[in-house]
Amino acid sequence: MNRQTKEWRNRTRQMMSYKRMMLYGYMALTILLVGISMFLYQKMNRLEEKLDAVWKLENRQDVLLPNGESDLVGSNTPTGQNSVRSVLGQALADKRETSGEGSAGVSTQNPSGTTQEDASQCSSEPVKRVYLTFDDGPSVYTGEILDILAANNVKASFFVIGKDEEYYDAYRRIVQEGHTIGLHSFSHVYQDFYQSEESFAAELTELNDLLFDVTGTRSTIFRFPGGSSNTVAPLPIQTYIAYLNERGIRYYDWNALNGDAVTNGLSPWQLVNNIMKDVKKNQDSIVLMHDLQTTHATVESLQLLIDTLKENGYEILPIDEDTPLIQHVSFETVEE
Ligand SMILES: [Zn+2]
Repeated sequence: MNRQTKEWRNRTRQMMSYKRMMLYGYMALTILLVGISMFLYQKMNRLEEKLDAVWKLENRQDVLLPNGESDLVGSNTPTGQNSVRSVLGQALADKRETSGEGSAGVSTQNPSGTTQEDASQCSSEPVKRVYLTFDDGPSVYTGEILDILAANNVKASFFVIGKDEEYYDAYRRIVQEGHTIGLHSFSHVYQDFYQSEESFAAELTELNDLLFDVTGTRSTIFRFPGGSSNTVAPLPIQTYIAYLNERGIRYYDWNALNGDAVTNGLSPWQLVNNIMKDVKKNQDSIVLMHDLQTTHATVESLQLLIDTLKENGYEILPIDEDTPLIQHVSFETVEE
């Protein structure tokens, strides 16, 4: 009996020591894993910074050297940049003479009938124009976007949807601060908006009435959700365009985009880089971005975008009646 008790105690002691060892083992493993995670996290952050620096470098070179004028690499003085720009300006002028305006697949018309050369005839170096547009707002970030635009004295265009009272101040600020406000459907639900000519008309009227009540102005510009080349509308796009034409509402697509709604998790540098790759191809660029709760990176990239555009001599303007009609499907397609 006594011996049995001793054995039992020994076994219990052994069990306890095994348990203790396992506990220490787990603790050591946990500490090790936390350590490795922290190390990898730091490493990832450092790599991300390096990647951003590479994007930055690539972006600047893209902008300065689109035609491979490698003899001008490394010239960072203002005169160096000017000479690069005039080479680029001449190359672009030559290209326009031979191939006409606009990039492939996007038609560019000037609604007031004036030509691109009118504005730039005094200079051998045509100023390239960029129109920044924000779709799908207002959102919780509209205020932040407006603050950055105001601090830089830059005007942009907002293609808004129907929102409740919480966002009425955002509509007002857009108008009061000199930006262009455009229509983008009330619901932004493709099936509802594009369902019929009536639903299309009803949503545009509802949105324009709301804008009038809140801001005192109506809008005469529009952007198709998904663009005029969208494949979700059940009716031919011409049906909707005819409605717009009858009411003198102009619609604008885009020929540059940052990709904020296409790929998640792009860094501010990547967003700006995407835009710079597009704008260098066009004389006039309408840039598609989003004002959504899910696209804060676009807000984070805005200062960098404005700085990069200005450094490279681009003029940033809000859309108005002089803005070329950049459309994926154009008026001519309908009238023919
Ligand atoms: Zn949209």
